[in-house]
Amino acid sequence: MAPEIKVVDADRFDRQKRVAQWDQEKIRKQNVLVIGAGALGNETVKLLLQLGVGKITVVDFDTVVPANLNRCVFFDSSDAQTHRFKADVIVEKAAKTFPDTAITPDHRAVETIPETAFQTHDAVFGCLDNLGARLHTNAQTYHYAPLFDGGTNGFFGKLQVVSKPSSCLECGMNNRDYKLLWKKYSCVGEVLDYLDPKTPALPTTTSVVSAMQVNAWLANLLQQNSGAGTYVHYNGLTQQTQTFEVPKRKTCPVHP
Ligand SMILES: [Zn+2]
Repeated sequence: MAPEIKVVDADRFDRQKRVAQWDQEKIRKQNVLVIGAGALGNETVKLLLQLGVGKITVVDFDTVVPANLNRCVFFDSSDAQTHRFKADVIVEKAAKTFPDTAITPDHRAVETIPETAFQTHDAVFGCLDNLGARLHTNAQTYHYAPLFDGGTNGFFGKLQVVSKPSSCLECGMNNRDYKLLWKKYSCVGEVLDYLDPKTPALPTTTSVVSAMQVNAWLANLLQQNSGAGTYVHYNGLTQQTQTFEVPKRKTCPVHP
């Protein structure tokens, strides 16, 4: 006979409900957008499911390859062999373990998603690997929802929190960034992959940065501690973080 489960252990959210100012119902009502279903996207979706978010849309046009498997918890080698859409794999596997969350895939490139799609979400998680898609997401979300943008490079990671009327991702762009962005695209907008070598990536740094993204969102939602307008740099070699205020740029095209 199976042992009786104590009342205190019968609720899957019991331990997180013990956190000060927790509001599980508020979390359940959230409708969030995760842009990018790679390493950061996998980890971020996992955390949002565990926390009990009610509605998630996962955006990614890409398919699974073996090189994803060192840091993507939802993918396995059969997904890579059959070239499945990343967003589909996450959604299918999430639905099995977390049936209370309504999770939907979107196979479009972020640049092709209509502006209205960004306006119906309560928060956006930037889990992208290139500057062009980041800036597009930033511009589309700025007036409608807070953006928690993560990035990694080997042992190093970053989190930037954007919440109107704070500074945004584009406020932090300098001339060198713009030059790199122009270099990456040809004059007809074609992506020049040979100028974009694959970035070193570790599952450890991915987990840290995703946790920072989701914790920043939780603090924003539950404790009005948004961190808006800040950039946090994480150094995985020293376990130190540095936080910078990103000044709001008067000439930024996102919020004239
Ligand atoms: Zn800006």
